Amino acid sequence: MATGKSTVGRLLAKKVGRPFVDLDERITGRLGMSIKEYFSREGESAFRAVEQSELLALFGASGQTAPVVALGAGALLGRETRLHVLERAVVVALEAKPAEVARRAGSHSGRPLLEGPNAEQRAATLLAERALVYAESHARVATDGRRPEAVAEDVLAVWQRNPIAVAAGASSYAVEVGRGIVSERLRDLARGASQALLVTDENVAPRHGPVARTALGSLLSSDAEVVLTPGEIHKHIGSVERIWRTALHAGCDRKSVFVGLGGGVATDITGFAAASFMRGVRWLGVPTTLLAMVDASVGGKTGVDLDQAKNAVGAFHQPSGVLCDTELEATEPERGYVSALAEVVKTAVIGDPAMLDLLEREAARVRARDQDLVSELVRRSIAVKARIVSMDERESGLRAVLNLGHTVGHALESHAGLERLTHGEAVSLGLVAALRIGQTLGHTPAALGERVTRLLGELGLPIDLSREPLREAAELLGHDKKRAGKRLKFVVAYEPGRVDTIDLELSELRTLTHQLASA
Ligand code: NAD
Repeated sequence: MATGKSTVGRLLAKKVGRPFVDLDERITGRLGMSIKEYFSREGESAFRAVEQSELLALFGASGQTAPVVALGAGALLGRETRLHVLERAVVVALEAKPAEVARRAGSHSGRPLLEGPNAEQRAATLLAERALVYAESHARVATDGRRPEAVAEDVLAVWQRNPIAVAAGASSYAVEVGRGIVSERLRDLARGASQALLVTDENVAPRHGPVARTALGSLLSSDAEVVLTPGEIHKHIGSVERIWRTALHAGCDRKSVFVGLGGGVATDITGFAAASFMRGVRWLGVPTTLLAMVDASVGGKTGVDLDQAKNAVGAFHQPSGVLCDTELEATEPERGYVSALAEVVKTAVIGDPAMLDLLEREAARVRARDQDLVSELVRRSIAVKARIVSMDERESGLRAVLNLGHTVGHALESHAGLERLTHGEAVSLGLVAALRIGQTLGHTPAALGERVTRLLGELGLPIDLSREPLREAAELLGHDKKRAGKRLKFVVAYEPGRVDTIDLELSELRTLTHQLASA
């Protein structure tokens, strides 16, 4: 509001050679009267309805060059609309302090919400009411005392980075995907911190520690680094304690930022240490495995294992930014990379039918770890997970669909112990199982099961259930975290992009799992 969005929008549109739309102007044209007039005649909610339909219409027009759109935060107050727009556009919030907003808006601004005495107070109230809209954006750019050209440059840079927004209320953040982005962006993301603490592991430190250290520069002192012993068996509270102590002795305070550089083990541990150190400090995720990029980077789940119980102790603590640099992932051992492809396939089935086509078409390039393709898969997988998590941050319902393939998968994984099957390999077998069970129950078309099974095989993942100890695994189904008494929620696929949970008796699922052995 009164941050110069129309001026900045016009400048930006010119720079990138795109059409420009000022939403307020378009609405005025449509209404045949000023917004102020419409407001006083029909009220705010009628205006919001018009505004919303005009905004959504911009996304309906196919075959046209996407325009740069200047719009007020009021247009994004409805969360459904906001998430819809966040998925389809890069949303940048231009910010100004209340006094600046009031000064720029003046008293005869045609902005009905700001008119009258105490404009600064009104501006402050409005900004507070709209705080969630600003938070749930791809980026926020300050405009106080800055020239529109400079602001337009910043907005352009955001647009070029093309981040994915993870909308989580006041804890929202963006994930950036690309090659070489750690050296370009890590320092920027850490800005505002009093100092940084770097957490990595012994495999990652020699390979990628230097790039992170150089990027953090003077924010990182030599004693503010923890190199963990790699492996799931070290994902325990002792590792967290090492981080707490190092942070304390390095002089970290509440303004410090922890940087987790590594696979899902290192980033989960770092996030949890950050959630609890000084009752919570900021953290940044720099995942170096495909699994940590496509899965652990979204959702804010952090934690450690307790004895045999995976992730038994933890917290939701969103990172304040994530950088998925595919150059870092390029050194991940082959088995981990291929295993993570099972999660990518799962994600495609859940919410991105075009990615399923892409995986099939380009299976050979995927196997060859073509960097551009890996970036594309990471980006698309994150977008699907971000969409689902944004609608269900605390896992109360919808998010359960992300467990497709995990019910039988987890049981096989637990039975196999940590060595024989990786998590992703177990998910691959679990996906085959879930599709076959879905088919037996009349939900999943046979062709979908065959298609996905073939793809998993082409990507180098295990698909042969007849070799698996299904009877023994079936006994472990009762340990499923999604179980409620004798029933559990099982995820079935109807078609690519359409999956849902069904309620199943545990005993029925056991029988269905046994039958997989003989099919
Ligand atoms: P990991 O962190 O153990 O990494 C696998 C191995 O690869 C380790 O030995 C590691 O040292 C090494 N490594 C990592 N990056 C490398 C690189 N670039 N080059 C060379 N070696 C490298 O395991 P993972 O598969 O990344 O993640 C599994 C963990 O992630 C599990 O603990 C799981 O619970 C967690 N996870 C969390 C979430 C979440 O939402 N928070 C989601 C999925 C998985």
